[in-house]
Amino acid sequence: MAETCKSCHDPLTLTLDPEESGDEDQTVPDDLLLPCGCHFHWQCLLEQSTTVTSSLTCPSCSSYLPSTTAAGSSSAASSASSSTTTHQPPPTTTTPTILTRYTNEGGVQPNLNIYPTLAEESFVTTHPEARAARAFHTLASEGDTEGMVELLTDLDDDDDPTPEKDEIRLTATQLLVWRDPLNGGRSALHVALEARQEEVVWLLLWLGSAAKGEDFPEAVVQVAQAMGLPRRAGLLSGEEEDVRLVRDGSGRTAGDVCLELGAPWTRLVEGGLFS
Ligand SMILES: [Zn+2]
Ligand SMILES: [Zn+2]
Repeated sequence: MAETCKSCHDPLTLTLDPEESGDEDQTVPDDLLLPCGCHFHWQCLLEQSTTVTSSLTCPSCSSYLPSTTAAGSSSAASSASSSTTTHQPPPTTTTPTILTRYTNEGGVQPNLNIYPTLAEESFVTTHPEARAARAFHTLASEGDTEGMVELLTDLDDDDDPTPEKDEIRLTATQLLVWRDPLNGGRSALHVALEARQEEVVWLLLWLGSAAKGEDFPEAVVQVAQAMGLPRRAGLLSGEEEDVRLVRDGSGRTAGDVCLELGAPWTRLVEGGLFS
């Protein structure tokens, strides 16, 4: 009677870590129901994200998964605007929608479009370097300067004689100016500014820009020196790309973001830090 996962054939539950739940073998639902009627664990379907996003079919029964209601053929949409459906313009985007019902610890999400999640997972699977870079951006948005420095140090610490065959690593410099194709081409500095993480903004400017030392607050300089973070010579000489010049997908530099945010961020621009 009970459905199982089409991928691993286990029951559609997840066993919680006993240390976290305080209870041994406590299970919670983990049931992703595809439009074709097949059930998967969330993680089991994610592992097949590249196949699903390229074929748009169910990995188990090969049914075509995207919903076909984009042109207003669903009864709810057509009853609300029946006079316009005949002249519906073609959809402006070809991004598919895969509507699922996902049941987990938090409850039921009856109309969850999993395509964006699958596309993101598929992207980082085929672009391994993006995983570290996206982790770096997450740390930036959370204000975790120590985590960021650790990640950068790991990248520069390149004395591993036998890197894995398909391992692609960005250098610290590439990471600082990396633009996230899944987040509007934003750099870490764009992300930090929009999350209003001031310490992170100063850290990125210290490490990734040629801004003059006297433009940094004394406290920032002391912290950077205490952490053993030198300015990068290639930046000061103009050989490396400066984070202040990186434009996101909308053409915005970090200075443009400061002006959008308003006070007190506009002070950074007015103080000449970005010029
Ligand atoms: Zn499974
Ligand atoms: Zn199926």
